[in-house]
Amino acid sequence: MTKTKISSLERRIANIGRKHRYLNLNVGEVSLPTSDESEEHKHNMYIFESKKFDPEKPYITIAAGVHGDEPDGITGVLEFLERNSDNQELMSMANYTIIPMVNLQAIEQGQRNVDGDIGRQFGKKHQDDPVLRMVERIVGDRPVDFFVDVHGERFKGVCFYVQEQTYKRGRKKVELPQIPEMIVKDLKQKSMKIYSGRGNNLGGTLRSQGVIQTDAREKGTFESYMYRNGAAVSMTLEYPAGLKRCDTRRKYVYVPLESGIRHFAGLFPEYKDVIRKR
Ligand SMILES: [Zn+2]
Repeated sequence: MTKTKISSLERRIANIGRKHRYLNLNVGEVSLPTSDESEEHKHNMYIFESKKFDPEKPYITIAAGVHGDEPDGITGVLEFLERNSDNQELMSMANYTIIPMVNLQAIEQGQRNVDGDIGRQFGKKHQDDPVLRMVERIVGDRPVDFFVDVHGERFKGVCFYVQEQTYKRGRKKVELPQIPEMIVKDLKQKSMKIYSGRGNNLGGTLRSQGVIQTDAREKGTFESYMYRNGAAVSMTLEYPAGLKRCDTRRKYVYVPLESGIRHFAGLFPEYKDVIRKR
């Protein structure tokens, strides 16, 4: 992706910030060292947050652009924001923090990573990456209930990696309903393609079609970081980067996001007590 593309994304984000009725756009500044030590590379970190925080409602965080070569994840999230800028019903279901371009320098260069994969360094004490530090500060303020990190895989169907907490209510073990399976069901109803999972070498266990259960002990991913910081459901949405049309790929971002939010927010009143005891 070229520089021009970035500035058009930034303009689009600013535009959403002006128009959105339920989310504020906050802008943080990240300073990155360059190879020439006398210079610093500065860029913005864009953060959409609910105008009012209601502690009775679930707290949902969505991120995209951890990898710089998955642009449809970013534009899919922007499309989600645009489509719902007036949607009181959906926007008032939860409190939101949405970071559409996490790793702006990598996005600018159209590369997966700059200086190593930040998607493997979350929560690690020795890291000193300013992007990570800022993201950890943003999402570390309050415990997040439901987290979605948007990525792309070269498949021809969407899939999810998920970590979910189990809880005790009295002496009984409480299993939360499986949100990714609920999303898969919705997508199938819309005739959207799900990754079969056959022959997957993705790490984790294939739990059902398109849903891969990952190991919470694996450290360094954004998802395991959020999980270990208390998210009841922490998952990766892998839009099908193998599909030809970019408008279709974007649809595989905003449709499952909305579906996941609705299911999680719908179940929250019932499970709030166990989820919040952490
Ligand atoms: Zn990725």
